[in-house]
Amino acid sequence: MAAYDAARMRMVRHHLAARGLHDARVLAAMAQVPRERFVAPGMAEFAYEDSPLPIGEGQTISQPYIVALMLEAARIRPADLVLEVGTGSGYAAALMSRLARHVHTVERHASLAEEARARFVQLEYDNIDVHIGDGSRGWPDAAPFDAILVAAGAPAPPEALRSQLAIGGRLVIPVGDEGHVQELLKIRRTGEDTFEQESLGAVTFVPLIGEQGWAEDGRRAASRHVPARARGHDTASHIAGHAIGLPDVGDDAFADAFDRFADARVVLLGECSHGTSEFYAARAAITRRLVERHGFTLVAVEADWPDASVINRHVRHLRPRPHGPVFARFPTWMWRNREIAALTGWMRRYNEGRAYGEQVGFYGLDIYSLNASIEAVLEYLDRTDPEAAVIARERYGCLTPWQRSPEVYGRAALRAGHALCEDAVVRQCRELLDHRLGGDDELQPDRLDAAQNARLVASAERYYRVMYYGGADSWNLRDEHMADTLDQLLRAHGPDSRAVVWAHNSHIGDARHTDMGQARGEHNIGQLVRQRHSGQAALIGFGTHTGTVAAAHDWGDAMEIMDVRPSRAGSIERLCHDAGRPRFLLDLREGHDETLRRLLSDPLLQRFIGVIYRPETELQSHYARASLARQYDGYVWLDETRAVDALPARAREADEVPDTYPFGV
Ligand code: SAM
Repeated sequence: MAAYDAARMRMVRHHLAARGLHDARVLAAMAQVPRERFVAPGMAEFAYEDSPLPIGEGQTISQPYIVALMLEAARIRPADLVLEVGTGSGYAAALMSRLARHVHTVERHASLAEEARARFVQLEYDNIDVHIGDGSRGWPDAAPFDAILVAAGAPAPPEALRSQLAIGGRLVIPVGDEGHVQELLKIRRTGEDTFEQESLGAVTFVPLIGEQGWAEDGRRAASRHVPARARGHDTASHIAGHAIGLPDVGDDAFADAFDRFADARVVLLGECSHGTSEFYAARAAITRRLVERHGFTLVAVEADWPDASVINRHVRHLRPRPHGPVFARFPTWMWRNREIAALTGWMRRYNEGRAYGEQVGFYGLDIYSLNASIEAVLEYLDRTDPEAAVIARERYGCLTPWQRSPEVYGRAALRAGHALCEDAVVRQCRELLDHRLGGDDELQPDRLDAAQNARLVASAERYYRVMYYGGADSWNLRDEHMADTLDQLLRAHGPDSRAVVWAHNSHIGDARHTDMGQARGEHNIGQLVRQRHSGQAALIGFGTHTGTVAAAHDWGDAMEIMDVRPSRAGSIERLCHDAGRPRFLLDLREGHDETLRRLLSDPLLQRFIGVIYRPETELQSHYARASLARQYDGYVWLDETRAVDALPARAREADEVPDTYPFGV
């Protein structure tokens, strides 16, 4: 119980107060009502994540932030009589009952209404009446109401609800005729026939099914005509007329249009899934152009440093050091694929005969290689300084019990009451950097490797420790590690060095303009690079409408080729699809197309597919709200895409793959 109380308080702080909700009575109610009692069995552990959850009958309990936003907008006072349409689990009605004198709530599914009623009895919330019926007609027997809140999206505000408002009463309702995306409206009755209306932004609700809502088949039941939302049409047609057309990804001219970003010191290239062939091929084409024409020499990717280091030695024609199979941990297809093998093959040919400083290198930015990095530091010291190796072995020995499953280390550190191995790994890192490496020496690949692996062990120790507490800290630490690694690379390669970064859109798009930054307090490498290299960074996102993708259903599951569902109405992706062009680039930088920037500045739904894809809960699992124009400097649209061409994960099967060393090891 105490754990839920703590999680509830965290939700109030992080998801509500930090995001600008400040009505003290609403926050107190959110801190009091136990959301875990309103979710389906087995879902309680997710009760305080800021997302909707399934409750049966194909319905959902709403996202806490949106419920609190609606409650705040409704300005419910202690003496008020309130109507809710769409009882669902009963959670929102329970909150209203803490704020108002009495609540009537209407639900069309009898089973949900009965379950909600039982919860109110158990919790002894005795000022709520649950009714079964069509709430789009309101509840005339109890009208007029001081506030009416509707938890399902209507094509237009039902006349019945407007007429059941007391003078001065507030109706808060999602309205929209574009499928599941609506605009949240607050309508205040100012007189017998007069109303004021205010928009509270874009939201996503299940449909209001009933006489004054939608028909069961998705057609409008209400007769009043609502014009199609102008904004979507304006944006799609502006994109159709003004986007920069791109040839096929395989065309030699594909990357020409990206010269406009070549002034940057760091160009960051995203992807909206980790398993789409065209995103790899497009980024490879852009990378080749930036290297060949514009002098970029560093390619830094969201991958493990030690694995990338094997590739780096290969493309630079350096003698390989002993190593196991590269990119062999889940998700193998992310880097172990034909598209990356083709890129590294090109890098090797490009580097042949060039001096080290003119060559292009391949590096990993990620934080997950605790074991391999420890091994790499020890192997380096064994070769160069056996006495130091003895000390390092002893220090890293602290982590030995957790090396196989480092995620358990956090729990052990918590139990012990202190960071068990922090001192040892930080001391080891400092010593290596202060006394043995550092300065110009770092350009030597062996030294750069050892220094970076030592830094990584220190970051990973902290990472696994904070990961145990959950929340934004571990994400932030990982992205800070990536941004720091990039800076080390730039520093080590001199003031003129320039880098291309490959990582997922969720790492590349400036987090300050997404739900992750605004609601969860997370930052990412895109934001950090923009802040650290002001005016010298180009953040480029990628998107697609439909096709296939390589992904798994769950962490550790086998890779599958899955169909990507067509993008949702009202999403950024659907706007791009509706523009009707197969491939294009949007230049979102200031001073290039201010109309486009304005049209794409408001937060809209955006799809994020990682290594996991769950089409059956796509809206909850993969869409979040974000501003396209503020997140990115450029956006690449590839309307239809296919799954990446994964290479076999095991060495023996790879024998049939020619010319792909080190992938075929
Ligand atoms: N407020 C709910 C909660 O806190 O769990 C969430 C409600 S859910 C997003 C929307 C609910 O509206 C669903 O349970 C759905 O069955 C109900 N609904 C849809 N149309 C309705 C109508 N015309 N009358 C009553 N309920 C309706």
